Amino acid sequence: MFCGVGPLFCGTDDETRGMIDSVMGQEVLPGLPPAWVLATLVLMGLAAVWMWRRALKAGPRGLQARGHALSGPLARSLTGSPWPLVVLRLGGVGLFLLVIVSGFFNREAPGENLATVLTWTLWWWGVVLSALLLGSVWCAVCPWDALATWLARRRLWRRVRTGLGRRLPRRLMNLWPALFLFVLLSWLELGMGAMTSPRLTAIMALLMLALALASLLVFERKAFCRYFCPVGRTVGLYAQAAPLALRPVDAGTCARCETLDCYYGNQEVEPCPTHLVMGRLRENTYCTSCGACALSCPYDNVSWRLRPPGDELASRARPRWDQAWFIVALLAVTTFHGLARTATGGLGEVLGARQSLWSVTAALASVLLAIGLSYAAVVALSYRLAAGEVPYRRLFSQLAFTLIPLSLSFHLAHQLSPLLYSGLLPFEVPAPLHFFLKAGLMGYGIWLALKTLRSRSRELWGRSPGRLAWRTAPPVAFVIAVTLLHVWLLMQPVVL
Ligand code: SF4
Ligand code: SF4
Repeated sequence: MFCGVGPLFCGTDDETRGMIDSVMGQEVLPGLPPAWVLATLVLMGLAAVWMWRRALKAGPRGLQARGHALSGPLARSLTGSPWPLVVLRLGGVGLFLLVIVSGFFNREAPGENLATVLTWTLWWWGVVLSALLLGSVWCAVCPWDALATWLARRRLWRRVRTGLGRRLPRRLMNLWPALFLFVLLSWLELGMGAMTSPRLTAIMALLMLALALASLLVFERKAFCRYFCPVGRTVGLYAQAAPLALRPVDAGTCARCETLDCYYGNQEVEPCPTHLVMGRLRENTYCTSCGACALSCPYDNVSWRLRPPGDELASRARPRWDQAWFIVALLAVTTFHGLARTATGGLGEVLGARQSLWSVTAALASVLLAIGLSYAAVVALSYRLAAGEVPYRRLFSQLAFTLIPLSLSFHLAHQLSPLLYSGLLPFEVPAPLHFFLKAGLMGYGIWLALKTLRSRSRELWGRSPGRLAWRTAPPVAFVIAVTLLHVWLLMQPVVL
C-alpha cells in the first residue's frame, strides 16, 4: 500500500494512486505534461520580457534598507522576549530526537520511516521554502545549534561563558569549509544512499550535532553557524531573496550608537553569534535570525522588516569569491538532485546496472565540473567582451547572484511532487494545482534571476543599453540553458 508515515497520513485516495506509476520497478510520479510545459515556458517568457522591459529602480546605497519595519504585537513579541524562540526550538529539538530514534530503532521501509520521510521529503523542501518566504528563520530554530548550545551552556538562553573561546584560524574564515561539507553531505545523501537509509540519515544528523558542539566548545561565538554549516549557508544565500529580515528600525540611531551591544552583547544576552553589527547589516547571508541583537539593543532599534523580494539579491548583498563558488556548487548539486530522482533519462537510466558508489561519485563530480566550468567560461566571455574593464574575480562573484533564484526555484519545483504525494499532507492536492505551482515557481525563478542579472550588470558596466546587451549576452544564454535543462528534468517522471 502507498502510505506515508502512518495511518493518519496515508494517501489512499484513488486520484493519488492514479498519479503513481511504475518504471523499472520503482514507484514514480509523472512529470509535467506537454501542455503544462508549454504553459511554464510561456509564463517564464512573459516574466522575462516583463522583467527586461520594466524600469529598474536603483537599490538604496546607504544602510537604511527599503521596506518598512513591522511593529504589530506579533512582531514585537518575537523580538521582545527570548521565550517564543525557546519554545520553537524545543519543538525543533523534539522532531530532531524523533528522527534519531526512528532512524535507529524503527525497522520500517524508508518510505514509511519518520527519519527518511521527515528529513528528505518534508524538511529539506520546507527549509528552502522558509528561506524564500521568511529569510533565515530556519537558523533561529535549528535543532543542531539549539541542542549544542543547551548541552554546552546548560541554560535555555542566558549568556554564560563556555568552552575555550579560541579565535578561528584566519584561513578558515570563509565559505570553503561549508562548501566542502555541502558536497560531502550531498555525496552521502545520494552516493551512499542516505535518502533511502533511516540509519544513515540519523547518523548524518548526529554528525552535524557533533560538529556544532565541538565548534562551540573550542571556538568563540558560533563558528559552525557562520563558516561550517552547509545548511545554514544555503539558507543564508536563499534568504537574500526573502521579503523578510531583521533590520534596524532607524539607521541614524545605529550610526550614533557607541555601545554596539548587538555586536558585544550585554550581561544577560549573547553577542551576535556570527560577528555582525546590526547597524551595518546589508544582507541576510550570515544572519541567523537569532534575535539576540533585538534583545540586547538598548534603543529597542531592531525589528522585522518587510521589503521588496529579491532586493538584496539584486543589489545589496556583497559579492565574495568563496561565496560565488558556493553558489555555483549549490546550482550543480540541485541539478544533480534532479538527475538522480528522475526515473527516465536521469542518472538511474544512464548508469543502469552499473550504478554503484563509484559511478554515482563520478557522476556527481562530472555535474559539479560541468556547471562550474561552463559558468567560469561564460564569465570569461563577458570579461573578453568588456575588454577586461572589470576584474574577472569581481565579475564572477557579482554575476553568481543570478544563479541563486535558478537553484532555489528548481529545488522547490522538483521536490514538490514527492512531498505532495508522500502521504504527509492531510489533504489531496489536485493535479492541475500541482502543475500550476511548479510552473509558477519556475516563472518566479527566472523573473528573479533576470532582475538580479540586470541590476548587477548595471553595477558592473554602467547603464548604456548597447554595451550592456553584448556583455550580458553570455550570462543570459547561461540562465536560459540552465532553465531549459531544469524544465526538461521537470518533464521526467520523479522517483518517489
Ligand atoms: S546596539 Fe542597537 S542601536 Fe547600537 S548598533 Fe546595535 S542595533 Fe544599532
Ligand atoms: S544577533 Fe546577529 S545573527 Fe542574531 S539576529 Fe542579530 S544580526 Fe542576526
